[in-house]
Amino acid sequence: MTNKLRYFIANWKMYGDLKSLKSINKVIKFTKSSKKKNYKLIYCPPYTLLFSFLNKIKKSNIDLGAQDIHHDINNGAYTGKINAKMIKDIGAKFVIIGHSEIRKIGDNDNIINKKIKSALHSNLKVIFCIGETLFHKRNKLTKKILKNQILKGLKNIKLSNQIIIAYEPVWSIGTGLIPKNFELSGNLKFIKSVLSVHKNSKKNTIIYGGSVNPKNIIHLNMINEIDGYLIGGASQDSKKLIDIVKKSVI
Ligand code: PEP
Repeated sequence: MTNKLRYFIANWKMYGDLKSLKSINKVIKFTKSSKKKNYKLIYCPPYTLLFSFLNKIKKSNIDLGAQDIHHDINNGAYTGKINAKMIKDIGAKFVIIGHSEIRKIGDNDNIINKKIKSALHSNLKVIFCIGETLFHKRNKLTKKILKNQILKGLKNIKLSNQIIIAYEPVWSIGTGLIPKNFELSGNLKFIKSVLSVHKNSKKNTIIYGGSVNPKNIIHLNMINEIDGYLIGGASQDSKKLIDIVKKSVI
C-alpha cells in the first residue's frame, strides 16, 4: 500500500430514505476526526436524497455524486429523467456513468459516450464503469470487451482527471465474489495500457468495484494498480464503510 490518494465511492443504488441519512453522521464524524487526508469519500445516493445529503455533508470534505444522468444536455420533454445540468445545479460534483445495472436496461456504448460528454460539458466529474460479464470471462473475451467499452465510451473525449475509470467485473457485483489478485492486477494493467494509447492520456485514476467489504479489502489493498473502490452493498452500512477506509489509508 502506498500513500497515494484513494477514492471511496458509495453507490447506494435504489436504497435509502430520509431516515437512513442519520447513519452517515458516523461517517462525517470519522472524516472530521481522521488525520489521514489521502482519501476522498464520495456518496452517490438516489436522486431523492441528493439535496438532503448535500445539506448534511456541507461542512465536511465528503463529496456528492448522482448514479446516472440523461444524455441530453438540454432540458426537454423526457419524463422521469434528470440531466447533468440539473445534477450540477443541485451542487453534486460527480456522476456514475456506464454502471452494468444501467447497461443491462439499455445503455449502449454510444449512449454512454453521449452521457460522458454531457457530464463533462456541465463540469461534473465522471465515474466511468466498465467490466466483463461471466459469459465474457468464461469465453476469454474480457480484454476484447474492456477495450471496446473504453474506446467506444471515450470516443472523441479528452482523457483528464475529470474521469475516473471504475473496473467492475459484472460477475462480482453483489455476488460476494472477487477476482483473484493476479487476474485483477492483469486486467487493471491491461486497462492502463488501453488508456495510454488514448488521445491525450495522462495518469489515470482507476478504481475497483465488486463486492468490496471489510474482509476482502485487505487482499485488494495489496494490488498496486488500484486507486480506490466503488462500493455498493457495504457502503450502506456506515461501520463497514469506515472500516474499509481505515484499512486502506495509511
Ligand atoms: C456497485 O454497485 O457498483 C457495486 C460494486 O456493488 P457491490 O459492492 O454491492 O458489489
